[in-house]
Amino acid sequence: MTGKSGRDGASHTIFAVSSGAMPSGVAVVRVSGRSARRAIAALAPPVPEPRRAALRRIGPASDAIDRGLVLWFPAPGSATGEDVAEFHVHGGRAVVGALVDALGGVADLRPAEPGEFTRRAVLNGRMDLTEAEAVADMVAAETALQRRQALRQMGGALRERYDGWRARLVAALAHLEADLDFPDEDLPPGIAAGVAFEVAALVDEIASHLDDGGAAERLRSGVAVAILGPPNAGKSSLLNRLARRPAAIVSHIAGTTRDVVEVHLDLAGLAVALWDTAGLREDGGDEIEAEGMRRSLERAGSADLRLVVLDGAGWPEVPAATAAVMAAADVVVWNKADLRADLRADPGAVADPPAMEGPVLWVSALTGAGLPELEAVLAERAGGLAALAAGLGPTRTRHRSALEDTRAALTRALATAEAELAAEDLRVAATALGRITGRIDVEELLDAVFAEFCIGK
Ligand code: GDP
Repeated sequence: MTGKSGRDGASHTIFAVSSGAMPSGVAVVRVSGRSARRAIAALAPPVPEPRRAALRRIGPASDAIDRGLVLWFPAPGSATGEDVAEFHVHGGRAVVGALVDALGGVADLRPAEPGEFTRRAVLNGRMDLTEAEAVADMVAAETALQRRQALRQMGGALRERYDGWRARLVAALAHLEADLDFPDEDLPPGIAAGVAFEVAALVDEIASHLDDGGAAERLRSGVAVAILGPPNAGKSSLLNRLARRPAAIVSHIAGTTRDVVEVHLDLAGLAVALWDTAGLREDGGDEIEAEGMRRSLERAGSADLRLVVLDGAGWPEVPAATAAVMAAADVVVWNKADLRADLRADPGAVADPPAMEGPVLWVSALTGAGLPELEAVLAERAGGLAALAAGLGPTRTRHRSALEDTRAALTRALATAEAELAAEDLRVAATALGRITGRIDVEELLDAVFAEFCIGK
């Protein structure tokens, strides 16, 4: 007994509290495996009709724990593909604690490991790896767009695409192998050209799927925006202003000379991670400050978007250390607009300095003036990066690298004159593609396709 799921551990029946933090109105305790029925029989008999909620006294015969709903989902029509039982009880710690203890006392039952229910669902073919990932994304989603993206992926949007490509790839491979294995047979002419045509089409489709600039990954993990600028320009004040929203979560990332503060914002449904960085000092600062600046710039370099905050009191002077790192794509903000009486009297009196190409805004972190405009610009720029209108691209680096391997192998197959080598490349491509969904047994699929191919001839 390894306690792991997989061929071995799958023989064990697992249980866990599937609902959230306690105390809560209701807690759901789920049981999956061949002894799930036994768990109901032991703790809440009789076993209800499949998929019908039944109100039962729950607990060992001698010691009632609670009254609650019991559900019975026989395999394979369950979330995990195994026999599943659900106990809906009051979400009190003592209630759930007693139920969990009682389940632990039922023969063959053990507590589930993290993700084990979903893992079993994958092993039993109820979902593929992309759908399992989407379950995790759904639970972690903080914004509406993240939730929608997870829902689409959970519904099989990526699986269908990758499985479709894979099926075409394996069919192309079967044709190529037929050519190799039965050269004397009366195969229709032009099969090699047909294979090349199909492979080229796949290369094109994979390329355009990959070519979303990482938009789907950004949508999933949030667009990273770094705040840069001289000390005392009001970077922290602005961050705090922007963070003063219900959806904001402020976290401190340790390990930098000055903690880099990260705030998660929900901008028009889009997740944005805003990073405050150490000020860019003119004198370079002491050793520690210099290190802080180096890290700030490094961090800003990995951001998707940079917000440069300047002190409006000093307008139009851009301190040299900041000017040196500004780029055309940066969003530039002059802060402390409240100090500019001239701006209040005549906004046109303060014009944008000519050197800046990106959007330039006037805000006041103190009064909140200009903040809605800044949020709109950030939402628009971040939204553009996440390409909201585009179809669902690869949502994880794991998908991207497997797709790149697939494309490389297909491109090799097209370039080679040797049919045997091309076949091997197609095999490599099919395996790489199968890694994304978890279907990697090319031989098995090939057998199936090949059998059909021969019967048809
Ligand atoms: P940072 O070093 O860039 O993070 O700057 P801080 O946010 O710490 O602000 C530096 C100083 O400027 C503080 O004394 C703030 O109170 C002040 N400050 C920040 N924003 C504004 C603003 O919009 N108007 C005015 N008048 N003062 C501000």
